[in-house]
Amino acid sequence: MSARVPVTPIDAAEISTYDHVTDVLVIGYGCAGVSAALEADAGDAEVILLERQSGGGGSSALSGGEMYLGGGTAIQEACGFTDTAEDMEGFLLAALGPDADQAKVGLYSRESVAHYQWLVDHGVPFKPSLWDSPTWVPPTDDGLMWMGENAYPFNEIATPAPRGHRVTSDGFGGKVLMAVLSEAVDKTDVAVHTDTAALRLIVDGDRVVGVVARHFQETVTYRARRGVVLTTGGFADNKEMLAQHAPQLVGRGVNSDGGDDGRGIVIAQAVGAAVKHMSAGQVGISLVPGMMVRGMIVDGVGQRFINEDVYPGLVGQAALFKHNLNVWVILDEQAYEEVPVEERWGVQPHFVAETLGDLEREIGMPEGALQTTVGEYNRFAERGEDPYFHKSDRWLRPLRPPFAAIDVQRGMAPPEYGDSAGSGGAEVFTIGGVHTTVDGRVLNLDGDPIPGLFAAGRATSGLHSWGYISGTSLGDGTFFGRRAGIAASADE
Ligand SMILES: Cc1cc2nc3c(=O)[nH]c(=O)nc-3n(C[C@H](O)[C@H](O)[C@H](O)COP(=O)(O)OP(=O)(O)OC[C@H]3O[C@@H](n4cnc5c(N)ncnc54)[C@H](O)[C@@H]3O)c2cc1C
Repeated sequence: MSARVPVTPIDAAEISTYDHVTDVLVIGYGCAGVSAALEADAGDAEVILLERQSGGGGSSALSGGEMYLGGGTAIQEACGFTDTAEDMEGFLLAALGPDADQAKVGLYSRESVAHYQWLVDHGVPFKPSLWDSPTWVPPTDDGLMWMGENAYPFNEIATPAPRGHRVTSDGFGGKVLMAVLSEAVDKTDVAVHTDTAALRLIVDGDRVVGVVARHFQETVTYRARRGVVLTTGGFADNKEMLAQHAPQLVGRGVNSDGGDDGRGIVIAQAVGAAVKHMSAGQVGISLVPGMMVRGMIVDGVGQRFINEDVYPGLVGQAALFKHNLNVWVILDEQAYEEVPVEERWGVQPHFVAETLGDLEREIGMPEGALQTTVGEYNRFAERGEDPYFHKSDRWLRPLRPPFAAIDVQRGMAPPEYGDSAGSGGAEVFTIGGVHTTVDGRVLNLDGDPIPGLFAAGRATSGLHSWGYISGTSLGDGTFFGRRAGIAASADE
């Protein structure tokens, strides 16, 4: 017999009395769960929020705090940008695709200004100032940033506007986001049960009516009159699930709180939930975007493969899925020096040479590889052109000696991580999960909602199919978390 905790649902007939009864049971106290709980409470439902850890936060609290919002938010306007929901939708469909969820992206874009306001009304701070250079997280407290909207091909698909809304914070903003939303929960009647892990769903016929959970050594049963909302995060920490669904992510560093074990996804599958896009992943490649954009990224034989001004996660996906992360950042001294020290995250060149020939030899690239690539790059950069990959002329400048190379596979880590070096050239998390409607209803393999079951956040397949843009996890988690909470609280 398997040593694993079984996932098969328990029949309600087997439960004589429940330890706890509520209207809406939200499982997982991250950004999606807190949003679902707040809205279910606002919808006059009795709410219990279950959390496996001793407190809320999840990966959301460790995150950069960037939320993808637009369509003309107050911050965008204060920074002098005009934006529309149509342009936001056009960008997201292109950047998160192919085959991004049209219904979710459309609704998310149309309601983005209202969602921004909901966040602000709940106390989430955003500062009206722009960080105007590609980065993972601005080294300042600027509240607005570009996410590659102004880079090819996206600048030809939709009118660009910066839509990265970064929660005001010293460093990563996720801790502030979760602290503020948790304070909002504390002011409601939501009951938070910590140290309690949901293990299996309870079903009455085809309806999900509760969960069996573990609180330390004790088994605890919960009955939900209106709905169970799964907001348990993704599965990047579950090696077996990764190997099954997203083998290219195996062996990389994981961008999570360490608890993305996919439990919510598999217990939903066990009651017939369909899943989507399980092979997709965000690839937080180990490089400083400000260095890459001022120089170039090349593969193991010195060839460029993408315009370096796109959102760095898209570079990461191309680097991992097409080049197995055998990639290098090539730059010159001026490019390195132009990156503010606080934005360098301690990254220093691994090789420096006066000539490209020497640099190739030191790295072990074929003779002439970098000389050809940089030669071509410089030839066109003189004229402000990049006919190969269409990098914006803002970043084009011929590279001059001395040259430097950074080995992406050696890793790096943000100051937030302390002395940890980061691992494997990239930190990844999963994007796929259970298939839901725009109201967070979990769909079965026939495409019908499973009565009583809702989900949001990284336990679901959200806006994305394959591509990823920073801010679309906290953004879609909070937005569709809210919708799931509203729908569950109104359920019969
Ligand atoms: C370092 C870092 C930086 C990031 N930066 C950004 C960013 O700037 N913008 C962005 O959009 N995204 C970012 N992300 C990704 C983003 O943080 C996550 O995708 C998002 O927070 C997921 O939210 P969630 O609510 O679905 O899950 P989580 O926030 O992980 O919450 C899930 C919660 O469920 C609990 N749980 C799990 N299983 C159970 C169970 N069986 N029973 C009870 N409780 C359970 C967990 O303990 C956890 O508290 C970043 C991630 C990291 C790690």
